[in-house]
Amino acid sequence: MSFYDEGVDFECKRCGNCCTRSGYVFIFQRDLDLILEKTNYSRSELEKRYLSKLDDYVVLKDQGNGACIFWDDYIKGCKIYEARPTQCRTFPFWNAIMSDEESWINAMEDCPGIGQGNHFTFEEIEKLRKKI
Ligand code: SF4
Ligand code: SF4
Repeated sequence: MSFYDEGVDFECKRCGNCCTRSGYVFIFQRDLDLILEKTNYSRSELEKRYLSKLDDYVVLKDQGNGACIFWDDYIKGCKIYEARPTQCRTFPFWNAIMSDEESWINAMEDCPGIGQGNHFTFEEIEKLRKKI
């Protein structure tokens, strides 16, 4: 039994909170492949300007103020939305948030899309949780 046996609602309201707060966006090989496929960035440009290392992991750089390097303050959106990394695609269905109802409810404080809009079934949520 989990609190989302009957599914939960979520729809991004494009407030930008999750893109402009401090935190790491981890980049896996499949994420890098997708960015290279869907954008005009070269691998060397990505490595030089957009990626950095955190221990053994690759993460996105930030803009010096906590905002993700791909956050565009002018359009209030992600510059690589169609190629956004797995971590961004699967939010808020992360293990840390879906582990119990309290964490889900707490996450509403930062994300106005949680509990709103599109309905996700238990099966859909499980599939997303396994991606990251
Ligand atoms: S915090 Fe939630 S509503 Fe705001 S941009 Fe992120 S996912 Fe969308
Ligand atoms: S890659 Fe895009 S969606 Fe992901 S945190 Fe950065 S700006 Fe937001």
